[in-house]
Amino acid sequence: MESYNSFKTAQRQIIEAAKILNLDEATTQLLSEPQKEFNFSLHVKMDNGKVKIFKGYRIQYNIARGPAKGGIRYHPAETVDTIRALACWMTWKTAVVDLPLGGGKGGVCCDPKSMSLRELENLSREYIRTIAPFIGVDKDIPAPDVYTNPQTMAWMMDEYETIMNNHQPGVFTDKPTQVGGTEGRRDATARGGVITVREACKLLGFDPTKKFAIQGFGNAGQRAALLHHELLGGGKLIAVSDSRGAIYSPDGFNSKELVMHKLKTGSITGFPGSKKIPHEQLLELDVEVLYPAALENAISINNAKNIKAKIVCELANGPTTPEADLILNKKGIHVIPDILASAGGVTVSYFEMVQDKYSFFWDEKTVHQRLDQKLTNAYHRVHEAVMEKKIHPRLAAMVVGIARVAEACKLRGWV
Ligand code: NAD
Repeated sequence: MESYNSFKTAQRQIIEAAKILNLDEATTQLLSEPQKEFNFSLHVKMDNGKVKIFKGYRIQYNIARGPAKGGIRYHPAETVDTIRALACWMTWKTAVVDLPLGGGKGGVCCDPKSMSLRELENLSREYIRTIAPFIGVDKDIPAPDVYTNPQTMAWMMDEYETIMNNHQPGVFTDKPTQVGGTEGRRDATARGGVITVREACKLLGFDPTKKFAIQGFGNAGQRAALLHHELLGGGKLIAVSDSRGAIYSPDGFNSKELVMHKLKTGSITGFPGSKKIPHEQLLELDVEVLYPAALENAISINNAKNIKAKIVCELANGPTTPEADLILNKKGIHVIPDILASAGGVTVSYFEMVQDKYSFFWDEKTVHQRLDQKLTNAYHRVHEAVMEKKIHPRLAAMVVGIARVAEACKLRGWV
């Protein structure tokens, strides 16, 4: 997955933003390292009766603005530095959308595709038995990420409540609605991204009704396909990919049918009428909007010069390397950076925490309206920083987020 260290990238970004903000050395140092890290082994009983050991992580990167918040991912290529980077970006992400939260992330190095449902449940419960004392509604609130989902959260919540011997649904977000989840969470990340594309089109004159492509067709990618049409009044989805392959249709796919096909067969490959293309080609197609919605470092120095999209809306975390970012900027491509474009998920997770605290639930329309307001404001705040400081959007988003976190650290007397 990672030919290169995401955390080093995240640290370089902090130094760059700190220079623009004139932050002192202590503040820069504080923001460049995680506040707390938990590193552990998980002992899981497998279906064959044997115990298998997995490596697990939970990182609370910065909690100056509120409890740590961030997903737990299951992936074979997971490393502590990937988790550090993701926890760091979560800190700026919650700050960019101005949520009263810090940043965190967790992960387990495992291959979920080769595990049965019961093995995944055992793993999820063991993860919680290990970190239960360190998480909580006012400490650290996990959520799903790559290859974890609302079912994982329901198991984790159940294990946590059993250990604590009380009802605390707000300690996990993106739960099923039957056990304290919120309306509007399933498509929140994609909705947030599509809202930022809508604002970019209005402000900068792009045309969302032209062609678009999506890399990665999981939760974020599938919902982006549906919402691009719904919220932007059209658009032709000409290419999509998942881990098994990439497909192309010059006339555009029917997004609903494509989602049905993926849900039914487990992949987008083999969708009737589609042509198989190499993974790399998808990223280089001539489209108005490209949504990277898979994993890190998809756009690198190797392919950045070939990217033809007018807007790159980063639903994935860290899909563009710093060198590639510079190339995209030079080419005049409007990058909506991950910490802004994918902030819809954590925003609705925050709404879920609020509703769980009050045990009073909003309807879907209210969730959508409040999400729209948060993401629209955040997009324009970042655009103001682009104009004021004459910097590119990723740096501007970092500057907005880091300034807010640095201020909270200072007010608390940490630096
Ligand atoms: P998911 O597990 O539901 O989907 C991931 C998709 O990417 C799958 O379709 C998988 O097949 C595909 N994929 C994996 N490797 C690929 C490759 N090399 N080429 C093409 N496709 C590949 O995960 P998700 O929840 O949709 O998350 C996707 C990205 O969005 C991640 O970077 C995640 O951190 C980020 N994100 C998700 C959320 C959320 O709420 N789901 C929130 C913020 C950020």
